[in-house]
Amino acid sequence: MKLCGAVTAAFSLPAGFKRDIAYATEQAIKKPPVIWLEGQDCAGCSESLLSSLNPSAEELILETLSIRYHETIMAGTGMVAEHAREETIKEGGYIVVVEGSIPKADDRFCEIGGKSFREIVMETAENAALVIGVGSCASYGAGIVGTTPSEGGGVAEFVKNKPVVLLPTCPVKPSRLVSTIMYYLSTGKVPELDRYKRPVAFYSELLHDNCPRRGQFEKGNFLTDWNDPRQREYCLLLKGCKGPRTYTDCAQVWWNDGANFCINAGAPCAGCTQPEFYAAFSPLYDKQEIFNIGPARSINLDSVGAALTGAAAAGALAHGLGRVIFEKKDSQDQDEDMREAL
Ligand code: SF4
Ligand code: SF4
Repeated sequence: MKLCGAVTAAFSLPAGFKRDIAYATEQAIKKPPVIWLEGQDCAGCSESLLSSLNPSAEELILETLSIRYHETIMAGTGMVAEHAREETIKEGGYIVVVEGSIPKADDRFCEIGGKSFREIVMETAENAALVIGVGSCASYGAGIVGTTPSEGGGVAEFVKNKPVVLLPTCPVKPSRLVSTIMYYLSTGKVPELDRYKRPVAFYSELLHDNCPRRGQFEKGNFLTDWNDPRQREYCLLLKGCKGPRTYTDCAQVWWNDGANFCINAGAPCAGCTQPEFYAAFSPLYDKQEIFNIGPARSINLDSVGAALTGAAAAGALAHGLGRVIFEKKDSQDQDEDMREAL
């Protein structure tokens, strides 16, 4: 019931809907069949699923979903495993979860049982009710494996005749996956999506606008030295934070059942919900010249760094930080800038 309440809140459904979701979930304890495919991936999204706290991995795998095929966790191997996938395809009406990108340059970069991953995805999607791309690699082909010669592509580039929902982050946030599946089971509909096929419920707000360090940004306090305890709470922009370009609810819905999230733990946001991640956001720990955010704020020169003093600081401000802080463009223009940069 706690999870049903969370789904209701996430998708802004009326309070009474909690009961409907609980009922639909109970009915689905015929359990929705799920085929989980892994292509060019690191299995990080599978790891993330297995670390789920609410619901727990056991509840998810044994009670909530009927995972018929999952290369990392299934007991069956070889022909037995492939037979389970084929039988589920014949039944139809299942959910396909795709983890990892699909090679575009040459199918031979990723083959399973002598079949290319592209073929496996297309064949498995054929009778599916819903296809969900989990993680940045399956969403955009743009995660870390997307920078390899195989030229990874996202699942929506290939599957065109089925509803596709993308849940980028590196790795996937299990609560988003479970909520999306439960929303689909209880309404029979795909949640409202943005232009990148991400549910609006999770990806409509700019991280920078909800960041716990936003006050430090406004004061012009920017962390330059990880070892200086006085800077511990400072804004991470100069350490490469992509929060001003990243649409996500990470600051409101923390990871691991509310334990923490990147910026609160002291790490700059890497922008892993965005199509620009990883290549165009690299290097991850350097300020991005392409950011244009405002409005104008005073800058605390002391915090900009013991290392940057006098003329050096003025030069840095004129060429880098000054541009970041003092120019203001709306998000549409910023997206255009990003497309050009890509
Ligand atoms: S730049 Fe990053 S750390 Fe600084 S306020 Fe924005 S999101 Fe937070
Ligand atoms: S805070 Fe940024 S890097 Fe961390 S999970 Fe959220 S979007 Fe990804």
